[in-house]
Amino acid sequence: MSVQKKPERSWEERKAALFNEKKNGYDQIDDQTKARMEDYCEGYKRFLDMAKTEREAVETVVGLAKAQGFVSFERGSKLQPGDKVYHVNRGKSVMLAVIGETPLSEGIQITAAHIDSPRLDIKPNPLYEDGEIALMKTHYYGGIRKYQWLSIPLKLHGVVIRRDGTSVRVCIGDEPGDPYLVIPDLLPHLAVEQSKKPLGTAVDPENLNLFVGTCPFPGAEGADRIKLMVLDLLEQKYGITEADFLSAELSAVPAYPACDVGLDRSMIGGYGQDDRVCAYAALQALFQVEKGGRTCVCVLADKEEIGSDGVSGMQSWAFDTFISDLCDTQGVALKTCYEHSFCLSADVTACFDPNFSEVYDKYNASYINRGVGICKYTGSRGKSGASDASAEVMGRVRRAFDEAGVLWHVAEMGKTDVGGGGTVALYMANRNIDTVDAGVPVLGMHAPFEVTSKLDCYMTYLGMRAVFEM
Ligand code: MN
Ligand code: MN
Repeated sequence: MSVQKKPERSWEERKAALFNEKKNGYDQIDDQTKARMEDYCEGYKRFLDMAKTEREAVETVVGLAKAQGFVSFERGSKLQPGDKVYHVNRGKSVMLAVIGETPLSEGIQITAAHIDSPRLDIKPNPLYEDGEIALMKTHYYGGIRKYQWLSIPLKLHGVVIRRDGTSVRVCIGDEPGDPYLVIPDLLPHLAVEQSKKPLGTAVDPENLNLFVGTCPFPGAEGADRIKLMVLDLLEQKYGITEADFLSAELSAVPAYPACDVGLDRSMIGGYGQDDRVCAYAALQALFQVEKGGRTCVCVLADKEEIGSDGVSGMQSWAFDTFISDLCDTQGVALKTCYEHSFCLSADVTACFDPNFSEVYDKYNASYINRGVGICKYTGSRGKSGASDASAEVMGRVRRAFDEAGVLWHVAEMGKTDVGGGGTVALYMANRNIDTVDAGVPVLGMHAPFEVTSKLDCYMTYLGMRAVFEM
């Protein structure tokens, strides 16, 4: 038996070379990057405060884009490399493009995020009076945990189309000194029976009714004096009547602004970070695109939280129409453009939470401060409903991130069969566009107060930039 020679390389070297060990991002960024990250996150928090609904997000995005030189694209207009254009779809989704030197026949680089978030929508016939209180009935939008929406301050945001066709914006709770609305929770003293129910059924969605007033109309008698008072106030302020609720989109959204979280201020807390955190990253990355290379497109979609259906969702032809309008300027077939394109479906993922560690596969979960999380697939019950990105596509995005110095790690939503979720990825992939999911890990996703890490937000922005430079 021969004596074993001393290995030429140490085991530490071998491990570093062979293992996929991800480190805390703070061990890998310098002070300059940290300063840029803080700057970026201040802008992001402002964006969150301005964009509580998809309509507000569109308006905010268009305002920011115009300041960067973007102009509204009109079908038939000519485009030159370096042109920056946008198209708003019915005020609820928006697509932006920076035209490249490379012809559209060679494909485009797309980042796709969504700007709708879970909330409580007002029903078409919402207002009633009970127990000397005026209430508004709601129908929840997206996957909420109903108990989380009780006893928190809420604002009412949206738009009403009046009988005569005119439109009025409603924003209750935005101005300093504005009142908030609330759905009070049941007091624990009387919740003995309710507390025995499973969490998912303890709050009846038909009981998610907003308290909007308690004052009777002066001098009025009989029933509905308080309802009358509320309608009178609404008529005075917005010129609307009860029938106008039918042609309205009003949403109750959390009233508090985005803020720093943690003694070290390393996290951001706020409503609607799924998926405005990726929408903001994609947008800011598009603003950095220089003339040259491929055409870069950022699409910010509505209706992702309820399945991407409908005219403003990612399944809508509105996207195909916009890209084919761009293609028409170069005489390129849409199908040729699509088959050479690449899409990063930018949506949030579930961040490992030690309070609920049992639902995560700890070897495949995303962890805070490790940068952007790349999801090869989402879906549930054996990848059902997923766009399962190919090894080749994963290889491309991984290399692009590495070359750009983007901190990234793998992110699977949770343990197999404990649940799941989807993104717009499959709708992009169904268009014959190579697509992969990546985004910011979120704590308490879909809660009225979601939490992200500043480092992950910034790395996701750098990731979007890398996609536009691929
Ligand atoms: Mn999402
Ligand atoms: Mn979501």
